[in-house]
Amino acid sequence: MANRDYYKILGVDRDASQAEIKRAYRTQAKELHPDKNPTTRKKAEEQFRRVAEAYEVLSDPEKRSQYDRYGHAGPDQGFNFDVNDFRHAREAYADFGFGGFDNIFDLFFRQGATHTATRRQQTRQGEDIQYKLRISLEDAASGTRMKITVPRLVSCSYCNGSGIEPGTSRQVCPTCRGKGQVEYRQQSLLGSFVTLRSCPECGGRGEIIKHPCQHCNGKGRVKEKSKISISVPVGVGNGSRLRLRGQGNVGPGGGQVGDLYIVLEVIPHSTFERRGSDIYSKAKIHYAQAALGAKIKINTLWGEATLTIPQGTQPGTTLCLQGKGMPSPHRKGKGNHYVILQVVIPTHLNTPQRRALREFEKTLTHG
Ligand SMILES: [Zn+2]
Ligand SMILES: [Zn+2]
Repeated sequence: MANRDYYKILGVDRDASQAEIKRAYRTQAKELHPDKNPTTRKKAEEQFRRVAEAYEVLSDPEKRSQYDRYGHAGPDQGFNFDVNDFRHAREAYADFGFGGFDNIFDLFFRQGATHTATRRQQTRQGEDIQYKLRISLEDAASGTRMKITVPRLVSCSYCNGSGIEPGTSRQVCPTCRGKGQVEYRQQSLLGSFVTLRSCPECGGRGEIIKHPCQHCNGKGRVKEKSKISISVPVGVGNGSRLRLRGQGNVGPGGGQVGDLYIVLEVIPHSTFERRGSDIYSKAKIHYAQAALGAKIKINTLWGEATLTIPQGTQPGTTLCLQGKGMPSPHRKGKGNHYVILQVVIPTHLNTPQRRALREFEKTLTHG
């Protein structure tokens, strides 16, 4: 990045007074306030950073004279700033009564510093697992217990989850000497910035495994097909989720075990249609049954039930079998089973039937 003239950045003359410099900074900071630049926020913050840097140098007589004499390439390779060196700019900014400085500050000036807070982490929480399970409508109605086989990651028994070949030990990372972080020097307007980043060799752990466990390739966990007993509660529906705590993947490095989520899919039934807690099915009756009334057998989720058809039942009539539907997972009791009646008109009649129907027809036409 090319060095920029601090005087030009603030828009002041080289012999500007401290008051003029402060005024210029104040005007620019106002213009660049993030609330004033909602759409070009990123750019405004970048500019603000330059302005703050310029103000930081020019508002300090000692730094200013150093800058005047040597420019950016001062005696100690320019101005080495760290987070706290923006004190003047911060104070002057706060004087304006602006909120939001901390946001900008955090975004741009503390970037290096926040990394210092991240300590090496050996263990992580294990992942949750999602497992799809298809069950029948009958099982959903009455609830069921079953064993399922779930592929998941478990702790390697060979190395006890450490990832280290038994008999060997971890070694201090030679790149970061165990700190987990490495320093990066960056050239900027003010000379070099030092930022800390996670060590690329050890991934921030500060240690490396020279002899990884051969069983798990140093990962500390291995794939296994676990048999898990589950109980499906009554009344579950499509998309219902069961959560089994601690039955997911073990975390890397022996971290906490994640959860297992069982997502249920209820297989569509051949004759029953479920609507919430109610069941719908169709039944065919003869027109004599429809006209005279009858009792017929109906299959329900809870076995055979007797449905009473009143005389004079019309095609398409829906009758109800109380409490023969699905149980509700949330409250007591069951829904209903509704039977939609189809009245069958005979397509072939034998002689006695035809005769009987003719007789019946006469009663209609003459009666
Ligand atoms: Zn192992
Ligand atoms: Zn390292």
